[in-house]
Amino acid sequence: MFNTVAIIGLGLIGGSIARMLKKMNNEVIIRAYGRNPELLQGAKEEGIIDDGGSINKIDCSGVDLFIVATPVLSSIDLIHSLLGSDDLKKEALIIDAGSVKQSIIDSIIAHDKACQFIGCHPMAGSEKSGYQYSSHSLLDNAWVIITPHDKNNESDIKKIEAFWKMLECNTIIIDAQLHDTRVAYSSHLPHIASTALVDSFDIGKNSTYSTIEPFIGKGFRDMTRLAGGKPDMWADIVLLNHGNIVNALDSYINSLMHIKSIMQQAAQTNDRTLLYKYFATIRQKWEKYND
Ligand code: NAD
Repeated sequence: MFNTVAIIGLGLIGGSIARMLKKMNNEVIIRAYGRNPELLQGAKEEGIIDDGGSINKIDCSGVDLFIVATPVLSSIDLIHSLLGSDDLKKEALIIDAGSVKQSIIDSIIAHDKACQFIGCHPMAGSEKSGYQYSSHSLLDNAWVIITPHDKNNESDIKKIEAFWKMLECNTIIIDAQLHDTRVAYSSHLPHIASTALVDSFDIGKNSTYSTIEPFIGKGFRDMTRLAGGKPDMWADIVLLNHGNIVNALDSYINSLMHIKSIMQQAAQTNDRTLLYKYFATIRQKWEKYND
């Protein structure tokens, strides 16, 4: 399909794609590019990549597919510089892994080689970051959202869809704007809520880990896991999708206000049923996402 693939940003997502790609097709040649090329040596010794180099000297010649897997703002610059390269093959395609899609498309759509870029978002990942946490199983059965734009052609979109399917991912093709609206609720709001939960936890000025440890159960750890995400990545996501995230956050604040008023009402009237009904209704909704 794609004989030579260049991965720019061999972190959690880029590294996981490289691992899965080598697992599915040992013949593929993978070149990786990073800010610190010495850090790519380990991946080369493992046989996950064939070659590595500096992000400032990307060799576009002979590359069939570029995968840009860096935080979104830097991805925009990198995609621009790839599209601007004289060595970029006419039939080569560039995809990304960014968690926000419309702003990337807006930034490249006027480029005369814009047709060579197709936005992608693998819905796989974790709060961990870096190549050391990458795993081929991260992509196993994951959904990849493909967000083509007006200048893409059908056969290229099909090639990218087939590429992700070859990596054992499920694919869905939707409009970038719709992607950004939906992930604001399903991915970005959970990060904000988790972060706010950590912020709201009053641990006292002089507390140490040992004084609070007895009170931190699995529930708190589950709910705040996402707050451990990389600030670099999240600053870009929130900046570029702030409108949708603010809408999602408003909806969440309304839900918090709603449960607060139910609690107050139930306490005033000693009405346990009111609380029971609320929790039962929400549990029914929850069951829809947890088959
Ligand atoms: P990561 O931190 O594990 O890896 C990012 C890579 O990009 C690293 O190699 C890092 O050195 C490089 N990088 C960081 N800043 C850079 C810059 N300014 N210029 C050039 N290179 C830079 O992050 P990740 O989780 O692999 O995320 C990569 C992309 O995938 C992001 O756009 C993110 O939005 C998206 N994404 C992440 C997840 C997730 O849960 N982690 C899920 C889906 C998509």
